[in-house]
Amino acid sequence: MKKTIGSSRRNFLYQSGLAGLGMTLFSPADLLPGSSSKPTTMPDKNGKLGIALVGLGNYATGQLAPALLQTEHCYLAGIVTGTPSKIPTWKEKYNIPDENIYNYDNYDRIKDNKNIDIIYVVLPNSMHAEYTIRGFGAGKHVICEKPMAITVEDCDKMLAAQQKAGKKFSIGYRLHFDPFNLEMARLGTQKVFGNLKKISGAFGFKAEAGQWRLSKQYAGGGPLMDLGIYVVQGMCYTSGMNPIAVTAVEGEKTDPVRFKEVEQSLSWEFEFQGGLKGEGSATYDALTNFLKAEAEQGSFELKPAYNYGRQRGYTPNGDMQLTPVNQQAKQMDAFALSIKNNQPSIVPGEMGRRDVKYLQAIYEAMRTGKKVKLS
Ligand code: NAD
Repeated sequence: MKKTIGSSRRNFLYQSGLAGLGMTLFSPADLLPGSSSKPTTMPDKNGKLGIALVGLGNYATGQLAPALLQTEHCYLAGIVTGTPSKIPTWKEKYNIPDENIYNYDNYDRIKDNKNIDIIYVVLPNSMHAEYTIRGFGAGKHVICEKPMAITVEDCDKMLAAQQKAGKKFSIGYRLHFDPFNLEMARLGTQKVFGNLKKISGAFGFKAEAGQWRLSKQYAGGGPLMDLGIYVVQGMCYTSGMNPIAVTAVEGEKTDPVRFKEVEQSLSWEFEFQGGLKGEGSATYDALTNFLKAEAEQGSFELKPAYNYGRQRGYTPNGDMQLTPVNQQAKQMDAFALSIKNNQPSIVPGEMGRRDVKYLQAIYEAMRTGKKVKLS
């Protein structure tokens, strides 16, 4: 029988929320400067900040809104939707007053609503930039889903809007609040099993035809934008490093009709300082989900790695014994706390921009067949 790791102390730390205690998966020094230190909004309802979800699709409906029933520092105050038929159910389920319900045309009027402190943009990727910039224009703090945008230029505009507004900005990187992914970061960055030799990861599911995820215009690309971004993130926080170069190849297109505009699958190899390699892949045509680090004294791995829960972790000392959390509730609470305490976000816009830059570099390497250097 395998031994288990995970002392009661570590479980206690995870249960009490490592993120809240200041442990993060990245070094702010890796990122560009940016977070504002202007005074921030104060809570106005039982000490909780009000969040408005923009876009009531699968993720907002299935994950974020239910998580907002479990949060301690924020609550679901409002919605922004282009589909009036959704309103009655949301109103009733989450007790949302009429004055906190907006559509995409009157969205900017949210600036007059004191009950809404935070905008959470949960729209198709290409719409993130516009609705984030308008959110800052309305004087609100903003959480934007991943990927932050579909171009680095859009990321720069979003960061400029944040600076101008003097508000906080966060990306929906929920795995920075997941104990299993935090454990990968701890094992890797603290070299618990020695220096890392290789990191690998893959994320894939079958994407059905007819959705915005298969549209270049809306998604900005294929599975790399949607799923590969988790693998990129996993490699960075497990190694504690940013890549310095990348090569990439597109997978075979066995369904050129469904994948007319975007890649069906793709794989890449990052180079890190010191010779560490990172082999990643993303696909819309198969189920795959892992993050693995090979170190001098053995391998440690999450499989699955990127789910909303039910992660499994394996190390040379046995299986990870960690208590799962509601990742989205932890993520939104951490952002609300960063606002209340005027601290930088753990997953700031600068990190989102960094990752969009890596995604674009992977595409460039795929298109040109050449190694692309990363600064
Ligand atoms: P979805 O298709 O289920 O929802 C998209 C929403 O946007 C819908 O309510 C739709 O009506 C609305 N919308 C407005 N204008 C639209 C337009 N022109 N075209 C299409 N839809 C339009 O998508 P989703 O799975 O909820 O994803 C939304 C965002 O959340 C994406 O950026 C995705 O990457 C991100 N996401 C993140 C996670 C995570 O774990 N962090 C998980 C799922 C999705």
